[in-house]
Amino acid sequence: FFSLILFLAACGSDDTSGGNSDDGGESADGGLIGVAMPTKSSQRWVDDGNNMVEQLEALGYETDLQYAEDDVDKQIEQIENMIVKGAEALVIASIDGTALTNVLEKANDQGIQVVSYDRLIMESPHVTYYATFDNFQVGVLQASYIEEALDLENEEGPFNIELFGGSPDDNNAYFFWDGAMSVLQPYIDEGKLVIQSEQTEFEQAATMRWDGNTAKSRMENILSSSYSGDETVDAVLSPYDGISRGVIQALKGVGYGSDDLPLPVITGQDAELASIKSIIAGEQTQTVFKDTRDLAAVAVDMTEAILNGEEAEVNDTETYDNNEKVVPTYLVEPVSVDIDNYQEVVIDSGYYSEDELE
Ligand code: BGC
Repeated sequence: FFSLILFLAACGSDDTSGGNSDDGGESADGGLIGVAMPTKSSQRWVDDGNNMVEQLEALGYETDLQYAEDDVDKQIEQIENMIVKGAEALVIASIDGTALTNVLEKANDQGIQVVSYDRLIMESPHVTYYATFDNFQVGVLQASYIEEALDLENEEGPFNIELFGGSPDDNNAYFFWDGAMSVLQPYIDEGKLVIQSEQTEFEQAATMRWDGNTAKSRMENILSSSYSGDETVDAVLSPYDGISRGVIQALKGVGYGSDDLPLPVITGQDAELASIKSIIAGEQTQTVFKDTRDLAAVAVDMTEAILNGEEAEVNDTETYDNNEKVVPTYLVEPVSVDIDNYQEVVIDSGYYSEDELE
């Protein structure tokens, strides 16, 4: 009886945050797949969700796609609802990677397996596979871009750089940081790169929930406390396009972006439309394209393997330890994008249309 009540409650819950099609499919005999995404506020997750639904439905599955607007409790509730609705597998891009231990326990009690999508779900033995990009390499691409743009191998410097990290509750943020620091740290140690703010550690540079406004405020503080004299910023390591655009606003607010005071080299991630436009406008310098079509294809393969009792293809069985187990992983390659190759990488590949850039 209790489950019936829960079931009715789940059916009646509002689906305005992107739920679709779990009630509509006459054809699907593939069962219901729950897809939990973190937020619609960043465009990449909208693309991820749409790609997942499109590819799963093409195979005859029904889907329940939910976005939690970066609210951890809401995401847990959405996953609980998916379990009650009878989802046969769950694909989850977590908000706080450490907050899903209990709800995954509940899924496991119902025999429902989980694919961790893009972000590793921590502290749970009930994560069957992990589909993601090579996260360390993302950081390497960002930092190598700065290395080349400033020609650090040949120039004497010193150059001023400021560092931004991602959200401390997202395991990926540490991989991006470590990848970037593997390139930058030697230059910092030899004094060729100088961090005027002296905010050198991940904890100081982290940006809760990847929030652009938080990054903007931090950059404003750094500019007023460490760059009020003659020093200027030559480069900013930014791990995500939304953060990059916040940082650019702060810089423009104090006069960067003119002939006398050009914007620094500034990296990013996700090739969001707004950032591709910013690159074309000569503001953001670089981003990292992660083809969400490819990631969805990997996650769909993993889901099918789970449902068919088969083994999914993985290419990394060592790196991603979630403190309960090393999760078998498939890493997709990220691609560095700037003004010279955006056309080829994001337009010619059909990811964006020319019109979307107007
Ligand atoms: C993703 C990045 C994204 C960031 C902010 C990370 O977990 O891997 O692609 O930029 O979250 O949404």
